[in-house]
Amino acid sequence: MKIVIHRGSQEIGGTCIQLSAGKTTLLLDLGLPLSPASAKLDVASLKPNAVLISHPHQDHFGLIDVLNPAVPVYIGELGQRLINATRMFLRKALPTNNFQSFENRQPFEIGNFTITPFLVDHSAVDAYGFLIEAEGKRIFYSGDFRAHGRKSVLFENIIKNPLQNIDLLFMEGTMLERNNDDFPSESAVEQKIYEIIKTQINITFLISSSQNIDRIVSAYRACIKGHKTLVVDIYTAWVLEQLKIVSNRVPNMEWEIMGVYASPSQDETLKAHPGYFDDFRKRLYNYRITKEELHANPQGYLFLGKMSHFRIINLYKKGNPVNVIYSQWPGYLSYPNKDYYGAESFAAYRKDPQVNFICAHTSGHATVADLKAYAQALKPKQLVPVHTAAPKEFPKYFANVVNLTDGQMLNL
Ligand SMILES: [Zn+2]
Repeated sequence: MKIVIHRGSQEIGGTCIQLSAGKTTLLLDLGLPLSPASAKLDVASLKPNAVLISHPHQDHFGLIDVLNPAVPVYIGELGQRLINATRMFLRKALPTNNFQSFENRQPFEIGNFTITPFLVDHSAVDAYGFLIEAEGKRIFYSGDFRAHGRKSVLFENIIKNPLQNIDLLFMEGTMLERNNDDFPSESAVEQKIYEIIKTQINITFLISSSQNIDRIVSAYRACIKGHKTLVVDIYTAWVLEQLKIVSNRVPNMEWEIMGVYASPSQDETLKAHPGYFDDFRKRLYNYRITKEELHANPQGYLFLGKMSHFRIINLYKKGNPVNVIYSQWPGYLSYPNKDYYGAESFAAYRKDPQVNFICAHTSGHATVADLKAYAQALKPKQLVPVHTAAPKEFPKYFANVVNLTDGQMLNL
């Protein structure tokens, strides 16, 4: 088997790994890089037979649009729906790829390869690692994963019943030079949200990805304890609708203490595609929280959703100070590309006397201690670092490390 990491051997994001066995070529992920300085990937030259997407984060699937649309793209069904959800609300065209889905732990074949997906705990839902077998070799690709989210049992399952005879493990190492000490788990984040909202004198805004479902569950649980209503925007409500296909334990707009704030711009998206959204718009209006309701009792609400934040924060901070809980990777606040994820606007809130700015976030990625337990359980003959800014640090922590550079070929 021939292996090339096209991108991702020395950076976090933009991952793309190529595996070839006989006449079959697979790509593992086809991501957009997070850094503007990252090398460009010439997707048209790759010509894979299929692409496997580990999870619906841009840095793992963001280049599928430039792929030949006939090439099958394998991704979890929920993951594919979530990609579409974002596109709809950003008013961008839906991807035209030839999507194929798979089931957790159900092997399937692509040419000479047999692939088995393993659901993992990550800040994206419907995230997988893949066991890939061909020519008598067994490769495991970790994808992005962690052991401290709400699905930590998935990590424990892999550790307790590890796959045997792994020839090569591609393992992510996002956290090699970071730590998660301030908020070591999702429940620590939940506790912080609760502490902030229970004494609020005005509304609290939670700045979080609408697709970080663990975080939405944390917000919901904090609201139950703190006797608040969790208000989400229409986009977040739509994301939660999609979750119904996999779980009836994730809150949605129909649950108690939930409400939807229907901003005119997001409502336009629903109005423009009545067939696509079916009766969602009609149902949503039963759970709507109006501007008047928010104004009458702002201290009764926690507001989650990113797409309509700045305008509404600016409106409410004219009264008593508001709480803004920044609940995503704090590194975005000082990202080289200044307005990345609204960094500049959030940085201004930090100095604003009308804003009580709090960071509360736990990583989507495994700590070094958890990575060690994972590598020790899987006992790979070769461990190849990916999705890391510190590949050279791997041998300090793990056995059998083989460092590849982008573009370097390995024969297995
Ligand atoms: Zn990810």
